[in-house]
Amino acid sequence: MTKTAITELPATTGPVFQPGDTGYDAEIAGYQTGYTHQPAVIVGAVHAEDVRATVEYAARHGLPVAVQATGHGLSVAADGGVLINTRRMTDIRIDAQARTARVAAGVQAGALIEAAVEHGLAPLNGSSNSVGVIGYTLGGGIGLLAREYGYAAEHVRAIDIVTADGRLRHLKPGDELFGAVLGTGGNFGVVTALEIDLIPVTTVYGGQLQFEGALVPRALEAWRLWTADVPEQLTSAIGMLSFPDIPQMPEAMRGKYVATISLAFTGSAEEGERLVAPLREVGPRLADDLRVMPYLESHAIHRDPPTPHAYTATNVLLTELPADATDAFLEATGPDSGLPVVAGFRHLGGALRRRGPAGISVDHREAEYVARAISMPGGGTPEAVRERLSQIQKTLSPWTIGHNPNFLYGGGDFADEAQTKAIYDDGTYDRLAALKAEYDPRNLFRHNRNIRPL
Ligand SMILES: Cc1cc2nc3c(=O)[nH]c(=O)nc-3n(C[C@H](O)[C@H](O)[C@H](O)COP(=O)(O)OP(=O)(O)OC[C@H]3O[C@@H](n4cnc5c(N)ncnc54)[C@H](O)[C@@H]3O)c2cc1C
Repeated sequence: MTKTAITELPATTGPVFQPGDTGYDAEIAGYQTGYTHQPAVIVGAVHAEDVRATVEYAARHGLPVAVQATGHGLSVAADGGVLINTRRMTDIRIDAQARTARVAAGVQAGALIEAAVEHGLAPLNGSSNSVGVIGYTLGGGIGLLAREYGYAAEHVRAIDIVTADGRLRHLKPGDELFGAVLGTGGNFGVVTALEIDLIPVTTVYGGQLQFEGALVPRALEAWRLWTADVPEQLTSAIGMLSFPDIPQMPEAMRGKYVATISLAFTGSAEEGERLVAPLREVGPRLADDLRVMPYLESHAIHRDPPTPHAYTATNVLLTELPADATDAFLEATGPDSGLPVVAGFRHLGGALRRRGPAGISVDHREAEYVARAISMPGGGTPEAVRERLSQIQKTLSPWTIGHNPNFLYGGGDFADEAQTKAIYDDGTYDRLAALKAEYDPRNLFRHNRNIRPL
């Protein structure tokens, strides 16, 4: 885009940065290190009023507005314009009696879990503690207990959002924008806080089983058959990856091709042990830490990488998972595939199928699985990696119904209009585009998986 010369800066209580200022690089840095936003102005928002004043300022100058909490879900990077960094907005208020939390824009999952467990409650968080609660929820939010409780976005009670006209709106279910905001990322404005449900869960039975080498295909086949009739109280995922042969890796993992089955179950330990028996029958495990754990430790289930790195990823939602699909996927992603990837499936279905009354914009509810492929270092240029990931994705096209927005990482054609349309059912994108024309006609909020105003 043509960069506009900035002659006036927004008036906010939080700090303001321009390129060259000390602190600018720290503000754009995030979990994704492959690329970053490159805004002309950054506001480190402290309060909702900072967000409101910044959006009003941007609108007055016709500048696009990007938002970042952690950088986990960076898609279309800003090149100029304004970036609102929400990481200083960390307020959490729990209402234990109502079983709700009011969560400000910069809160990460780990902080919310810590606050909730104090009250014998838990949020519907995903696999990593460092993901932002708001970005995760605005993309639907597939949690550790997703099959039992459904999408995190179905459990939102109120939304505070600054829209392109510079108004801070308080949305409730039934308001026109409420259902549009949930499922569309930052397309309709900057959310300053969400009020969300908490659940009365204090422990889960869960952890990870790992199988290596020749047992990987057997583990995948066992998991595929097993997921056909496990209860909704059990949510699981399988990943397949070759650990790099580098000294930084623990000796036991180095250079090995491994399948990881991560799961969480809210029933008893005895029932959990009984349910996982067919998986253990696959053979000797490289690791097996299934146990009853306090919810505070739930981030250990998936063992997501804790440190920032570069990654690109695609996913496809599937209505079924026949052996033909897993065979094709395994061949396309295995150690001889030429692209270092973490490939795998998460089991969906259960409560994820059920739509709540708020009419949120999370679609493809008939999906029973999501297949994912995430690049690891060493795959080549971003374009080459995207090309290979697209080929992997094509192997599943006979069973594919669309994409999940949260598990798409990377810019370019991985965040274009075709990809974005494939997130929604027929008709949803056009309805959202009409609302976008009403609430953000100049498309100020376009640094995301963009819904273009009609
Ligand atoms: C290691 C890892 C594990 C993950 N695990 C899961 C999982 O288990 N389940 C799942 O569903 N997803 C998961 N995700 C995906 C994650 O939920 C998305 O990437 C999400 O967008 C991250 O939000 P963020 O705020 O942390 O990231 P950011 O990069 O800071 O934000 C991503 C986007 O979210 C939007 N956004 C963020 N804050 C606001 C706001 N206040 N107002 C408006 N828009 C906003 C913007 O469009 C922004 O570009 C995971 C991602 C990673 C990298």
